Amino acid sequence: MSWETKLPATLETLTEAAHSAPAVFATSLGVEDMVLLDLIAGNSLKIEAFTLDTGRLAQETHELIARAEERYRRRIRVYFPQTEAVEQYVRINGINGFYLSKPQRQDCCGIRKLEPLRRALAGKAAWVTGLRREQSEARADVARREDDRSFGLVKFNPLIEWTEQEVWDYVRAHDVPTSRLHDQGYPSIGCAPCTRAVQPGEPARAGRWWWEADSAKECGLHVQAADTLFVSSKEAA
Ligand code: SF4
Repeated sequence: MSWETKLPATLETLTEAAHSAPAVFATSLGVEDMVLLDLIAGNSLKIEAFTLDTGRLAQETHELIARAEERYRRRIRVYFPQTEAVEQYVRINGINGFYLSKPQRQDCCGIRKLEPLRRALAGKAAWVTGLRREQSEARADVARREDDRSFGLVKFNPLIEWTEQEVWDYVRAHDVPTSRLHDQGYPSIGCAPCTRAVQPGEPARAGRWWWEADSAKECGLHVQAADTLFVSSKEAA
């Protein structure tokens, strides 16, 4: 298989999402999301792109937002966390309190990611993500289209069947802009203090919250309501 053979199903899913107006596309600026942005912009689909600026992103991510906006002539809407909530978290836990325990890490993700995501998805009918089944065990059962009970809308995952190789083949074929962090060994793009480069052979998400022992490296963005109230051990970026 190749990305060319999977592209028709991907475009069909994106078109269905666009018809489920209002639809939005959540991008972390990772390579999968850059492929989706290229497809959405290239096919003039009415799907607004947004990202969550947690206040702890790498400079490379901000630089890519600017590069992508210039390339695609589209604004990527940026949602920030609530100032008061961040200030209170830091007052209680310290500036890097997320390293101290898993609940403290989950609280930080709740404030910096989940609350802004809820605002970004409020009033929307559908959202699009760059999840791929290959990325982790927690994502092995992801469907192309699913009811997202956590946020009360339909979630479209157009790249579920793409392999990492196919994603990069598409990027090279279309000269898609990507994060300079990928060149430094970061397969997954997240907050700077919570993401490290991985070694050859390590799982793609091994660099996320690497100090936590358990295997479910997720942060809540892609967890169904039945599995969690606000944060859970399967939270996702
Ligand atoms: S990934 Fe780290 S810095 Fe970012 S919101 Fe989660 S705990 Fe906070």
